[in-house]
Amino acid sequence: MTELLYFKDNYIKNFNAKIMAIDEEKNRLTLDRTAFYVEGGGQETDKGWIIFQGGKLEITKVQKKGKDVWHKFKKSTTIPKEGEEVEGELDWERRFYLMKAHTAQHVLSHYLLEHFGANTVGNAVKQPDTRADFHPLNHNFTEEEMATISQEVNEIIAKDMPVSIKFLQREEAINFLTEKGYQRQYLEMVPESVKEFRIIQIDDWDWSSCGGTHVKSTSEIGKIKIIRRKNVGAEKERLYFNVIE
Ligand SMILES: [Zn+2]
Repeated sequence: MTELLYFKDNYIKNFNAKIMAIDEEKNRLTLDRTAFYVEGGGQETDKGWIIFQGGKLEITKVQKKGKDVWHKFKKSTTIPKEGEEVEGELDWERRFYLMKAHTAQHVLSHYLLEHFGANTVGNAVKQPDTRADFHPLNHNFTEEEMATISQEVNEIIAKDMPVSIKFLQREEAINFLTEKGYQRQYLEMVPESVKEFRIIQIDDWDWSSCGGTHVKSTSEIGKIKIIRRKNVGAEKERLYFNVIE
């Protein structure tokens, strides 16, 4: 079982770990601990490097299979051995963009909940275009409206709100989030096996159950720009945005 270091600390760029297994055929390895974000929850995987005695592997994808986290690497003539101590290094420029985009998505999601009564039912945090899907929303945003939403969301972001992570037991978390205005039906969709919820709180603005990586304060985001929209089903509207500075 791989310990996920980013679960509690989103700012780890380098870390030490031990190689638990190497799969030479599939060019992948597992570690006892990792700060690489594991693909899932709408956020793209981290990339970076594993540095070992005599070489460096380029990590292209990180995925969970059962209890283990597999780090896929580019084929290399020299690879480390099982049991070896290595150093992991994240592609921080990429990761930091994803952190800013993910926190911005939560700010935008709450804006849509407050102004349009729409819940966020899907997301994809990517570089450069991040998107979120809103439901129920029977509205095709115009260019002008998208510019207004971008501006108002940027005003909220500029308030420099602290972002914190807290852990609550399942029932407690569902009750807490329901009180904050989220729909119980969506919260209960989280598999029963999840006993503890990780809640990302943006000051007194937003509370979300989320496993992703986030900045520590909204001022780190800079600004966003909504770039396009798309209808993706009955009463379902998708917005795409970029983090622009
Ligand atoms: Zn999230």
